[in-house]
Amino acid sequence: MEGSNQVRDVHGRPMGALRISLTDRCNLRCRYCMPEEEYAWLPRADLLTFEEIERLTEVFVSVGVDKVRLTGGEPLLRRGLPDLVRRLAGVPGVKDLAMTTNGVLLGRNAETLREAGLHRITVSLDTLRPDRFTELTRRGTHGDVLAGITAAVATGLTDLKIDTVVMRGFNDDELVDLIEFGREMSAEIRFIEYMDVGGATHWSKEKVFSRAEILKEISSHYGSCEEIRKTDVAPADRFRLPDGTVFGIISSTTQPFCATCDRSRLTADGMWLRCLYAMTGTDLRTPLRDGATDAELRELIAGTWQRRTDRGAVDRLSQRETGRVFVSVESLKRDPHLEMHTRGG
Ligand code: SAM
Ligand code: SF4
Ligand code: SF4
Repeated sequence: MEGSNQVRDVHGRPMGALRISLTDRCNLRCRYCMPEEEYAWLPRADLLTFEEIERLTEVFVSVGVDKVRLTGGEPLLRRGLPDLVRRLAGVPGVKDLAMTTNGVLLGRNAETLREAGLHRITVSLDTLRPDRFTELTRRGTHGDVLAGITAAVATGLTDLKIDTVVMRGFNDDELVDLIEFGREMSAEIRFIEYMDVGGATHWSKEKVFSRAEILKEISSHYGSCEEIRKTDVAPADRFRLPDGTVFGIISSTTQPFCATCDRSRLTADGMWLRCLYAMTGTDLRTPLRDGATDAELRELIAGTWQRRTDRGAVDRLSQRETGRVFVSVESLKRDPHLEMHTRGG
């Protein structure tokens, strides 16, 4: 958005995309996100109400946000979700309202969400093999995810995406099968490099299957992939196969895209984070509940964004040679805001 209310950070990056986490709870336990046995959860009373989320969204829109993505934890666990979708779809200035889900509960919700005004959906699916799914997520609901994807297609939710985290030695032999599956579902597959975010306590650089390796693997099967010229600041680089099929790669780990990053994250309890890797955030719940006016909230958000220097993935790249895990299990237990399932991925 170009206009008088456009706010830019220290590196000249505007505010564009807001990812809103609706809950830190999840019905899966993916090993790259929630590998531990026990978690420190956000207190229920701290969760923003739908009214509070709607109001903050309006304020964010007034300083430049025009893309909103609902995430979690698992967003479909949030009770009354269609009501929130309806509210956010009605906020003037929200041009793109999307959701990222693990798909387990999508089968019974897809139609209602589309009717409520959700524009787009992304389903995370790392494997087509039920046994691998159970090993990865420690739950046996692979069939439900596939049924969820089928339901999303049937409701006519357009621009369906499937996000796959590629891990060496786990699913790097399924790239072609996933592209074929995406083609069947009319969905675009996006391969994501394994990231050393908080929560990924079992991460190691050896397990990262890089963008270069993904391209090599796919080209060796289909022939050369043509890179599609980028016209936006979305994280995925997109490629076209000789038969016209398009897929994406999100190379957050080996080729970060911080230079153009317009994304920030709001946790379910109202902590605003300017980077996926940020160690601290701004508490918006307290001023909101203490009666701050829209103008005061706008000033807080705009002023904080103007001081934003974050380039988390670029910084990580230079520190990565040490190969160490980013956030220790002890610090995750002390501060759940550091967890990927709290900040929304
Ligand atoms: N539960 C929902 C889901 O899985 O789609 C939404 C939240 S989840 C945190 C959002 C995205 O983050 C998912 O696509 C997931 O695969 C991705 N993710 C989580 N941990 C990751 C990691 N260590 N590296 C790369 N992607 C990760
Ligand atoms: Fe997996 Fe998403 Fe749940 Fe994390 S939040 S454990 S990525 S389903
Ligand atoms: Fe944006 Fe931070 Fe991700 Fe870089 S690491 S792209 S600054 S969220």
